[in-house]
Amino acid sequence: MPDTDVFSERHTDSGTDAESLRDTGRIPFARWCPSPNFGPRPEKAGISLLVVHNISLPPGQFGGPEIEDFFCNRLDHSAHPYFRTIEGIQVSAHLLIRRDGALVQFVSLLDRAWHAGRSCFEGQEECNDFSIGIELEGTDEIPYTPEQYFKLAEVADLIMAAWPAINTSRITGHCDIAPGRKSDPGPAFDWQYFRAALQAAQGSVRNV
Ligand SMILES: [Zn+2]
Repeated sequence: MPDTDVFSERHTDSGTDAESLRDTGRIPFARWCPSPNFGPRPEKAGISLLVVHNISLPPGQFGGPEIEDFFCNRLDHSAHPYFRTIEGIQVSAHLLIRRDGALVQFVSLLDRAWHAGRSCFEGQEECNDFSIGIELEGTDEIPYTPEQYFKLAEVADLIMAAWPAINTSRITGHCDIAPGRKSDPGPAFDWQYFRAALQAAQGSVRNV
């Protein structure tokens, strides 16, 4: 029964991945780029929400080091007029997915990153306390790349295995928890496509 052996071995691996993520807060396939912009989560704040964002610096330009510099408080604010408008702002996200699908991690998932700001999800305020923030390199209007959807699905699948309180109805956009104040990930983000990619990622773990 070789298939069964393969199944149980893979299944165990996947459980171990989730367990180790709960212990370390670090995604094993992410490049670690530590940001100082984080703090502890409040005691007893479970991790129960995933928030999708977008960012590009300068806006609409992709591929440079500026997002990482910004989250690590080392952006040269004299390098572009837009950078002047975000001087002194200290923010972070747990994760960033670049246009090519590369994954960067700034803050341990166990810690509280500074991505949501004033926010509310189903009556619960201060979403930073109980959420994980993932930035997609992009804008509200430019279509995201398939590589970004697949990586987001892969990461979300692992996060959901580690923190089962996050189900598909608890994956939301920044625009939904800070309406009127934030618009990301914007109309360019295809939720239907993402949910299909997520379903495929979940299926691939079960069926291997
Ligand atoms: Zn945002």
